[in-house]
Amino acid sequence: MEKKYETAIGLEIHVELSTKTKIFCSCPASFGEEPNTNICPVCTGMPGTLPVLNKKAVEYAIAVGLGTGCSITQYSKFDRKNYFYPDNPQNYQITQLYMPICTKGTLEIETKGGVKHISIREIHLEEDAGKLFHDQETHSSFVDYNRSGIPLIEIVTEPQMENGEEVIAFIKKLKFIIQYLGASDCKLQEGSMRVDVNLSVREAGIKELGVRTEMKNLNSFKAIERAIEGERERQQKILSQGGRIIQETRRWDDEKGLSFAMRGKEDAKDYRYFPDPDLAPLLISNEWIEEMKERQPEFRTEKIARYKREYSIPDYDIEWLTENKYLADFFEKTAELCRNPKKAANWIMVETMHLLKEKEMEPKELKYSPENLAKLIGMVDKKVINGDKAKEVFAHMFEQNTDPEKYVEENGLKAVRDERILQEAVEEVIAGNPKSVEDFIRGKEKVLGFFVGQTMKVLKGRGDPERITQLLKERLKEGL
Ligand code: ADP
Ligand code: MG
Ligand code: ZN
Repeated sequence: MEKKYETAIGLEIHVELSTKTKIFCSCPASFGEEPNTNICPVCTGMPGTLPVLNKKAVEYAIAVGLGTGCSITQYSKFDRKNYFYPDNPQNYQITQLYMPICTKGTLEIETKGGVKHISIREIHLEEDAGKLFHDQETHSSFVDYNRSGIPLIEIVTEPQMENGEEVIAFIKKLKFIIQYLGASDCKLQEGSMRVDVNLSVREAGIKELGVRTEMKNLNSFKAIERAIEGERERQQKILSQGGRIIQETRRWDDEKGLSFAMRGKEDAKDYRYFPDPDLAPLLISNEWIEEMKERQPEFRTEKIARYKREYSIPDYDIEWLTENKYLADFFEKTAELCRNPKKAANWIMVETMHLLKEKEMEPKELKYSPENLAKLIGMVDKKVINGDKAKEVFAHMFEQNTDPEKYVEENGLKAVRDERILQEAVEEVIAGNPKSVEDFIRGKEKVLGFFVGQTMKVLKGRGDPERITQLLKERLKEGL
């Protein structure tokens, strides 16, 4: 009989913190700059320099710890992890091995199989390394130290996940918590969130976990899912043939759909860790922790639950709007002001999103205010302007936060509501298109659309299409 196997997966997730400066020096921590422009003697490991801890990095670590149910270590330390590599100019990385800043957290994930709790073993603070570029053509390598010294937190889970779906659910949950805190943008593609997957397979029913391998730096959800499936199959095949798994680091090649051995797994003893003598212990007071607790936002899960209670909008809209805290807050303000949550949701999900994409902007770069969007929605609701004109006003508002009421007034965009003028326009169109009127009378209903369009034209686009349709229908019954 064929044997059954079980999989255990634990994650190590590095997240770059959104501080303005690096963790131990005052160089800017910005992304995408010219190589080696954000560097100084400290982050290039010059002898005789001393690190100074960035308070904001500590605050972000505490915030993420609190957001994931961790205990905050009130007395923690930094350690040196020693290794030589050209992207690491000090020949050691400052990290936390013995006393991580946060321990013992948990996140609740939802999957098809139901709700599951995943334990977080620890979160520690450390510094990032530089970046190497290998030029295949000239057979040379380049190093950029801009990333050297960017603050990182590393989140380590217990090996409690069993498949790709659970892993993705965990990462998404974590990502939203960190993004809601503003602690990082968590972009897998750009490397501000980097996921290492540890995976082992064992015979079903056996308690002790199998030997694991580690796959590093998977940079999309798809790659993570495929890597997990590929590695699970590889290990299971070896075990079912009576083979042994070697503990090692493997590189997942997403294009080939295969993983390759990179190096044997190092142990802590290989790095000769010792406490960093240049940094004092990190003391975190009760008051500081309390203050940080007060500053925790309403997270996405709670927001979703509240939206379901407070707004009668579809679940799809709720999921969409809460994916980005900035847009969610924007929506809430707009909905409150215009008292029309569905319209507020639509303007954000459709028109706003369309222009954001077109102009390659992030939501937080939006220029217009919820007040002005609410005014615009109010004007459409009260039929002061029609839908087409509203879009025109919106495009202007998007660029310059224009007051829509003023703009409509100044540009004469108000819908024509004077019945006499509307009827005159209808008459003019009917008189000018006798053939189409005959078509309509002979049952060609489609021409109604043509008449509405023509009437709108006469009114310079300022009619109310519904009212015009009504008037036209009534008028056409009478024939020419
Ligand atoms: P190390 O310190 O040697 O890297 P850890 O025990 O700290 O090893 O674990 C690192 C990561 O590997 C954690 O996410 C943990 O959950 C995961 N892990 C540990 N053992 C296993 C195993 N047998 N199978 C799957 N994952 C594991
Ligand atoms: Mg490890
Ligand atoms: Zn520096």
